[in-house]
Amino acid sequence: MRPLTGLATAAADLLFPPECLLCQRSLLFEPNTARATPALRDFCPACLAELTADLLRCARCGASAALSDDGVCEGCLRAAPPWQRLVVLAGYGDLARDAVVRAKRPAGEPIGMALGRRLGDLVRSRLPAVRLDLVVPVPMHWRRRALRGTSSAGVIASATAGSLGVRKRGLLRRIRATSMQNTLPPEQRPANVTGAFQALSGVRGQRVLVVDDVITTGATLAACTQALLAAGAQDVYVSAVAKAERTTLVAADGS
Ligand SMILES: [Zn+2]
Ligand SMILES: [Zn+2]
Repeated sequence: MRPLTGLATAAADLLFPPECLLCQRSLLFEPNTARATPALRDFCPACLAELTADLLRCARCGASAALSDDGVCEGCLRAAPPWQRLVVLAGYGDLARDAVVRAKRPAGEPIGMALGRRLGDLVRSRLPAVRLDLVVPVPMHWRRRALRGTSSAGVIASATAGSLGVRKRGLLRRIRATSMQNTLPPEQRPANVTGAFQALSGVRGQRVLVVDDVITTGATLAACTQALLAAGAQDVYVSAVAKAERTTLVAADGS
């Protein structure tokens, strides 16, 4: 860092003291080495550690189950999901749940961006050999979006795309309104979202990463993947900030 830049940063820090987006602890007195790490400009070390202290997960479905040598669970060996790989930042512990719920609020955009950047870092390290062309968020139905004013999957996807150096494009559309997935029992969720999405022709021949905030049963991401493949996408990878277990009551509209 050049001295002048350092001075400007120090002045900005005094005017707008940096703090952890999740616990609001001041980051002003973290060592410079820590603050040179991008992740530690958003979250304090304790929150970052809790958020990313994840179990070993199945590379196809995200289940924290016994895995085969190539990192896939028994269920996926029998019947794999339609996507190539799933990358999940966190389990649905208290901190991740709080972060995801806050990212859904209009004022939660900085949290959504920070989560998206971490997800991008993780995708890069988990899929080093994959050259992605596009990042596509799971779309909200326009009616719900009009009520909420913001789509947290869209915000997260923007930051994930930025971190990966890949374009983000909204090439998935909801073509019918669906019930909130978290209001339905797991066995009814696939039918609720099957055929609910359509992909635009821009996905043809592209390697696509779909981004959502929470994954529970995977029904929404499966329906999105099928729409992308039907529109000619070459490969589809999926990612989410948090994976809720099927038994977890999902406060956010995870699916
Ligand atoms: Zn914190
Ligand atoms: Zn699996």
